[in-house]
Amino acid sequence: MAKFNANSAKIEDYVEEVARKSRINSFYPQTVSRKLNIPIDIVLIELSKLSEDGRIDLRYQIRCLDDLNTIDVVEQYSDILDKEVFCNICGESIKVTYSNLYPVFYINKEYREYIKKK
Ligand SMILES: [Zn+2]
Repeated sequence: MAKFNANSAKIEDYVEEVARKSRINSFYPQTVSRKLNIPIDIVLIELSKLSEDGRIDLRYQIRCLDDLNTIDVVEQYSDILDKEVFCNICGESIKVTYSNLYPVFYINKEYREYIKKK
């Protein structure tokens, strides 16, 4: 018999709750970790399961470390790693590295529609 995973259930409930709110369409794994008091590595594992299910979509935000402006959101970062991007807030080109890439999860559109009908 499989052991009940309370953390997994809590994270699933959290994502469902976010999907119900129209004004929020994305969230950071750090926020989930902080709000639910679950270690970030566990949060990332559980969120990746939900992303395999198609309930959420993983993207990466490229952010300027000076002003935290989100310069771009990409599906994959391998093509842009070590390339320069332009921040129009500070007017400077910055190099994309792991330190300015932030994983962010977006609620899948079809999943949201399903949740709202439920
Ligand atoms: Zn900037």
